Amino acid sequence: MRGGVGFGVFSVGDDAPRVGFRVGEGILDLVAAGLGSVFESSSLNAFLALGRSSWEDTVARVDELVTVGTELVPLESATAHLPFEVADYVDFYSSLEHATNLGRLFRPDAEPLLPNWRHLPVGYHGRAGTVVVSGTQVVRPCGQVKSPQDAEPRFGPSTRLDIELELGFVVGVGSRLGEPVAASAFRDHVFGVLLVNDWSARDIQAWEYQPLGPFLGKSFATSIAAWVTPLVLLEDRFVASPPQDPEPLPYLSTAGDWAVDLDLEVELSGTVIARGNARSLYWTMSQQLAHATVNGSSIRTGDLFASGTISGVQPGSQGSLIELTWNGERPVQLADGSERTFLEDGDEVVLRGRAGDVELGEVRGAIVPARYEGNEPAR
Ligand code: MN
Repeated sequence: MRGGVGFGVFSVGDDAPRVGFRVGEGILDLVAAGLGSVFESSSLNAFLALGRSSWEDTVARVDELVTVGTELVPLESATAHLPFEVADYVDFYSSLEHATNLGRLFRPDAEPLLPNWRHLPVGYHGRAGTVVVSGTQVVRPCGQVKSPQDAEPRFGPSTRLDIELELGFVVGVGSRLGEPVAASAFRDHVFGVLLVNDWSARDIQAWEYQPLGPFLGKSFATSIAAWVTPLVLLEDRFVASPPQDPEPLPYLSTAGDWAVDLDLEVELSGTVIARGNARSLYWTMSQQLAHATVNGSSIRTGDLFASGTISGVQPGSQGSLIELTWNGERPVQLADGSERTFLEDGDEVVLRGRAGDVELGEVRGAIVPARYEGNEPAR
C-alpha cells in the first residue's frame, strides 16, 4: 500500500481518542469510515486481540478506502497517542555486530561475545510502564555512576546518555501458560512491527549491570512509534536472515525468510548520523518469540518485544552513539558545525524506517535537563 504506515490512536481537538490508519501525511478515521466499534477505543488492544483474519480483513478494507480516495484527517491537525497498552516489554540483544562492539567496549580484556550468545537470543525484561509514544520529552536520568578511575560511586545526572535504534513487534493474540509458541506460529500471534528507541544511560548501565543485567540505565524511558505497521503490509519484504553458526537447537530453527528488509536511519538534531538495515539482525523475530516462550511463559495482547540495537558492519551503520563514536573517542559531526559524543540537553533524536512503499512511523524524542539539586534528586 503506497504511503501506508500503520494503525494508531489519535484525537482531534477535544474529541475522544480513536483508532486510525496513517497513510502518508493523513489519517483514515476508522470510526468515521464505519469499520466497527472496536475502533472506538483509546488503544489498539481490542483490535489486536481479534486475530489474524480480522487484521487481514481490516487491512484489505483500509486499502479499498484509501484507493477510492476517502477523505483523510490531516496528520498535523491530530494528536497521536500511545498506540497500545503495553502489557510486558522484553528487549533482546540480537545484532551480532552490536553485541560484539559492546563486549569490546564494556569488557575490553575478554572475548567480546559471551559463550551463550550464538546459542540463544539474549534478552531481559524491561519496564512496560515507561514506554512512551514518539514526541514525548525524555528527562535526563540521574543515578549512581562510577567510572573505572573513581574509587567510589557518586550520584548525578547521566553524562553518557545514548540511543538504541531497534525494531519491535507487538503481540495481538496471547498464549496459554505452559504452552510454548513455536517459531512457525509467529504470524498467528504477532500483529505488527514498530520502531523503538531504547534510551540508555551508559554510565549508570556500566556500574549497575552485573550480574543481573540492565536496570535503571534503561527503565527511565523507552520511546515507540505512534503507528504500528501490520505484518501483512510487509510480506514482500521478508528475506533470508544471515547464516547462523552453530546451527541453533531445533526449537529455534525456522524455515523460510524471517529477516525484514527495512532501511533505517538515525537523525540527531537535524543531521543523519547513521544508516542501516534491519535484515542484518542475527536472531530473527520468530526466534525471539520462540525463545521467550519456550519455558512455557505465556504472552498476552500488547506485549512488546524489541530486537536490541541494530548495528551493521559498515562504518556509520551502528544504532547507538557509544558505537558510532567508539565510546566517545570519535565524536560525530553535526550539520551546524557542532559535534557530539553522547546526547546533550535540547538534542532531538528521530528514528526512521522504510521498506519499499511502506514507511514505518518515526520515533522522535528530545532530551530535557535532569531534575537535580546538588547531590540529590529534585523532589
Ligand atoms: Mn536495547
